[in-house]
Amino acid sequence: MDKDPIIIVGGGLQGLATANSLLDRGEKVLVLEKEEGVALKTSFANAGQLTPSHSQPWNSVSDILNILKGIGRKDSPMSLKLGSLGNYFGWGIRFILNSFKSKYEANTNSITKLAQHSLKLTKQFREDNAIEYDCSQIGTLKIYRSKKSFDAAIEHCKKLKKMGINSEVLTTTHLIEKEPQLAEIEDQLEGGIYFQDDEVGDAHKFCKELADVVRSKGGRILTNVEIKELLVDQNSIKGVKTDRAEINSEKVIISAGSWSYLLLKGLNLRLPVRPVKGYSLTIETPPLNSMPKLALVDEDIHTAITPFSNSRIRVTAAAELAGFDEEIHEKRVSYLKRMLNSVYPSLYTQLDVDEGKLWFGFRPMSPDGLPFIGETKISGLYLNTGQGHLGWTLAMGSADLCSDIVLENKTAIDSHPYRITR
Ligand SMILES: Cc1cc2nc3c(=O)[nH]c(=O)nc-3n(C[C@H](O)[C@H](O)[C@H](O)COP(=O)(O)OP(=O)(O)OC[C@H]3O[C@@H](n4cnc5c(N)ncnc54)[C@H](O)[C@@H]3O)c2cc1C
Repeated sequence: MDKDPIIIVGGGLQGLATANSLLDRGEKVLVLEKEEGVALKTSFANAGQLTPSHSQPWNSVSDILNILKGIGRKDSPMSLKLGSLGNYFGWGIRFILNSFKSKYEANTNSITKLAQHSLKLTKQFREDNAIEYDCSQIGTLKIYRSKKSFDAAIEHCKKLKKMGINSEVLTTTHLIEKEPQLAEIEDQLEGGIYFQDDEVGDAHKFCKELADVVRSKGGRILTNVEIKELLVDQNSIKGVKTDRAEINSEKVIISAGSWSYLLLKGLNLRLPVRPVKGYSLTIETPPLNSMPKLALVDEDIHTAITPFSNSRIRVTAAAELAGFDEEIHEKRVSYLKRMLNSVYPSLYTQLDVDEGKLWFGFRPMSPDGLPFIGETKISGLYLNTGQGHLGWTLAMGSADLCSDIVLENKTAIDSHPYRITR
């Protein structure tokens, strides 16, 4: 009798990448997604930056201070909604405990390793399948407005170098040579760092291409199907109950992003992954001479700005610990516009920012910044989730690890840092 396909819950970056990876190993897969299409939630309009260079978790001491400063505010880079405190309490304690220097550095190293592995596989996948997703391979920039943050970043680059991440420290003059559109704010900048190996691409377009590849390899993707319950018998997974029917399988992988922990609750499995809301504003750009070439992160205002194929520019910001709050506050919209204006003032005046497409997503964030990849204590039930603010950067590598764990193969990199019982 034919084996049941491996069920993957969630058709975002992680679910689709995992499906592809399992198909490459000769497995049958069925992806179940509750939305009407793939990658319509957090993988839809992110900043699009594939950045092994940017692998620090979001719990440095300064991040934690920023969160505290942002309590109850809508116009700060990081914030905490008081009404949601209960949802983040246990998670928050672990988040703070992971901010200690030794843990923070070890976690950064583990994320960097997975990100490098992932970038290599993303390139390979692109070459093997000739896909198109507004990809740019010219690197990314980080810019600094304070000497303190610039000096700290230069120190961090020395550590990254030891891990094989190349970078170029730029004086303000060199920074402007690299990205002439920054000339207008030259007097506000301390310098920048160029990461030549980073890439940029539209994650939603990538997912649509990935879904086509999955189908072409024989994988099935069903949309408009919501998983209501995970079916377990004698501590082994037996399948899933959807809003339409029960589907049997001896192997189920949860890649349901921020919603993963809700699915596991029914089985008394506690997954410390919580939603951290972020926003983006995407603006069509008419043919302009003044378009920036490079995607950048402005470290001091926690903002990413990404040009896509000379036809769109996307500004991304904010980390709100606010549960699954779907409200879009006017102050957030004006915050995004203000951030874009503060980096590219004259470009800003040429754009129709009011016509920009506003979006928000819930980053599936773990307390230590690392994903959870591996088998749960229920036999046959696996997780590949918790990639947080780096889910695009980590997708292909996480999928590769997850597939090898499911099939009990040797993994390409050490999978221990990402195990569920860490
Ligand atoms: C503002 C912002 C900017 C970002 N920028 C970057 C960046 O530049 N680089 C980077 O690497 N990362 C970035 N990220 C992070 C990245 O987008 C996420 O980590 C990634 O999209 C998460 O992918 P996922 O597959 O885990 O989750 P999702 O994309 O959310 O997919 C999970 C899927 O599961 C489905 N699902 C949930 N519950 C069920 C159920 N019960 N039944 C069926 N289906 C279900 C959902 O509908 C969803 O489609 C950014 C995130 C945000 C919010």
